[in-house]
Amino acid sequence: MNNVKAKKRYGQNFLKDENVLTKIIESMPNNNSHLVEIGPGLGDLTQKLVKYKEMTAYEVDSDLFTILQSKFATQIESKKLKLIHTDVLEAWDKQDTLFDGNYDLIANLPYYIATNIILRAFEDDNCEHIIVMIQKEVAKKFAASEGDKDFSSLGVIAKLISKESRILFDVPPTSFEPAPKVMSSILYIRKDKDVKLSLEFKKFLKAAFMQPRKKLSKNLSSIIDKKTLALIYEEMDLSDNIRPHELSASLYRQMHKKVILNDRERRKQQQ
Ligand code: SAM
Repeated sequence: MNNVKAKKRYGQNFLKDENVLTKIIESMPNNNSHLVEIGPGLGDLTQKLVKYKEMTAYEVDSDLFTILQSKFATQIESKKLKLIHTDVLEAWDKQDTLFDGNYDLIANLPYYIATNIILRAFEDDNCEHIIVMIQKEVAKKFAASEGDKDFSSLGVIAKLISKESRILFDVPPTSFEPAPKVMSSILYIRKDKDVKLSLEFKKFLKAAFMQPRKKLSKNLSSIIDKKTLALIYEEMDLSDNIRPHELSASLYRQMHKKVILNDRERRKQQQ
């Protein structure tokens, strides 16, 4: 392994399984978009990706960055690969997007920040597809539908922000070096670029799923007064017993619109 010791603090589990690497390449969208990879590591996936498209890769680890620079000297020279040495979350803080033009994100993500990365990619207007390896349990949350016990605020956001969100296949720990403790999955998301979710809506979802097994009305009572909530439930013909995972993403959106309207109405009356 190039005599490199994997660093736990950077979530380094290198993908060594040729079959899995090939399957990731086969799931690449058939388009002309640029590719962005987060955490190229030792460059096994990068090597395959760069054969097909121009790409940008963000790596935080200085030791790996040095190895990648010499391994991909030719591709860097010919501008097929732009290698950036930084924490990708800091890059997003500074410039809002990881690439100045349409791009697809393909990566074996560091699991400790995988959820954060996906949520940032949702907000990045230039990102069109997200094809990422993450912990299976987290992938299930992003791909869940209403009624599934895994359906959470992540599932609601993914449903609204995408035209398609699903798990492509699972990858066992033995495909990595060192082997992670958990099962992994490849998550595929095709974004709907017309959809924008407000911070208020995300806060509303956070409250709705605060105690996931409690009644939704109980959770929402922390941010909406009883009378308004009862009115909204009646208008939407919802049972008071409904649990947070049972309401669909579009109904969450509808409910939030009603909350805003009610709020406005009440403020008008107070004036
Ligand atoms: N792509 C390689 C592979 O498939 O074998 C490595 C994947 S490994 C799971 C995660 C990679 O992300 C490591 O190279 C790690 O150094 C890098 N990484 C961790 N945190 C990062 C961050 N905040 N910004 C950019 N890269 C990061």
